[in-house]
This record gives sequence, C-alpha cells and structure tokens, in this order.
Amino acid sequence: MKYLGAHVSAAGGVDQAVRRAVEIGANAFALFTKNQRQWQSKPLSNEVIEAFRSACGRNDFGPGQILPHDSYLINLGHPEAEGLAKSRAAFLDEFQRCEQLGIDRLNFHPGSHLKKISETDCLSRIAESINEALAATRDVTAVIENTAGQGSNLGWRFEHLAEIIEQVEDKSRVGVCLDTCHAFAAGYDLRTPEATTATLDEFDRVVGVPYLRGMHLNDAKSELGSRVDRHHSLGQGNIGLDAFTTLMRDPRLDGMPLILETIDPTIWADEIAWLRAQQAA
Ligand SMILES: [Zn+2]
Ligand SMILES: [Zn+2]
Repeated sequence: MKYLGAHVSAAGGVDQAVRRAVEIGANAFALFTKNQRQWQSKPLSNEVIEAFRSACGRNDFGPGQILPHDSYLINLGHPEAEGLAKSRAAFLDEFQRCEQLGIDRLNFHPGSHLKKISETDCLSRIAESINEALAATRDVTAVIENTAGQGSNLGWRFEHLAEIIEQVEDKSRVGVCLDTCHAFAAGYDLRTPEATTATLDEFDRVVGVPYLRGMHLNDAKSELGSRVDRHHSLGQGNIGLDAFTTLMRDPRLDGMPLILETIDPTIWADEIAWLRAQQAA
C-alpha cells in the first residue's frame, strides 16, 4: 500500500493540515508543527493536540502516514557551540511536539559545516545531536533527509547518511527520507526506469532500504549533479514522469509516507491521483 500526500499548510493550527490533506485526496501528509522560520513558537495547546488527534482518527491517518518537517533554522552539525546548542534545543522541541501529536517520525535536513569544520566532524556532530534527542524522547524516529548539497549542506551523498546512521546509538529510531529532486541534483540519475531502480539499489547498498521511512516526490528544475535545490511539478522538470511511475510500482516504497513538495499546490490533487493510478497499470 502506497501512502500518498503533500506538504500541506498548518495555518490556523496543525489540525487544519489534516483537513487540507483530505481535500486533495491524500492518505499521507507532511506539515510543520511550528513556524519553520522562527526559533520560538508557543507550545501546542491541549485543544489543538486533541483536535489534531481526533481529525487523524476520523480520517484514518495512522502515525506512519504523517511526516512532519522540522524548522529550516536548525543546523544539527553547527560548527559553533552557541549555534549548535540552539539547534539542539529547537530539535528536541520538535521531537516533543511529535510525541504530543502521536506522530512517530520527524524529517529533517542533516546540517551544514559552514566551511568551518571538516565533513567528518560535521557528520559526527549531527549524529550526536540525534543521539541527544533520541535519549530525551521515546517514540519518535529521527528521519534524515538527503539533500541537494547546496552550499556546505551535507547529506547529499548516500555515504553521508550511512556515516551518520553508523554513529547513532539506537538504530531502531533512525531512518531516511529520500527526496527525488535532491537525489537528482546530487548526481543520482532518475531519468529512466532503469536509472531510477539503479538509484534505489545504490541507496540499498550504501544505506539499506530498511532505513527508508518516507520519500519526497519532486521533479527538478535543476540539472543532474548541479547541487541546486529547485523543485518542479511532476513531469515538468528534468526528471520526468518515468521515475515516478517506476517508484509507484516498487514495493520498497510500501507503507511509508510519499510526499509531494512540488511547486503548484493547485494540482496536488491531480498529481496524487496520477501517482495512485500508476500502481495498478
Ligand atoms: Zn524534501
Ligand atoms: Zn528541496
């Protein structure tokens, strides 16, 4: 079973995200549980938590169909003590919000060395940030997203993800979200069915498919290997539709949230319906 959805707005309260997911025919969704561009957000109220949980219950969204994304400000591999401490505190807050909402996983970008420390040091800091958050919580899995590798962002090579996971103590609570646009921009070809399957095979070889906890399904405005993160609607970018048809027929993607972050929300319902139809054919 494929769980398909989009990263919907949580404006007006996180419970409103559930309604927006239902409106586009989704059986999965992503959201921000706080303002993604601010360090501080007020705590979730009991009313909002209850409204979110009951809306998920009514609409059959189990925990494994929801993939919240953390704040863009957080850098878990920050080279400086103050920035690292601030990031780790905000990251823990994100984990605790997930626990309150009954969500079992949290998606985040690994971090950036800002050209001040080595890649190896940065990856170790990221792993230690994850270890601290896992030690302070119980039920939420840390889901590392592969990146396009813009600037000094790490996580664009599958080897980076493997190196982080290697240093995470509780392997049962760490996983990966693969973003197709980011993988393509990082140099992993997806333009044909064969290339798409080969890229997933490579992920399995380096990281391991059992660690896959979700995907972001995006076409790319950017070129293969450009290290530039520019999403596009499915079939309108440089990846093309074949990749998404192939992914919809690959059982390795069953039972996890598959989330659109494509650029035109007005066609998300159509994109979800199209993806769903690819499974059967
Ligand atoms: Zn993404
Ligand atoms: Zn992106």
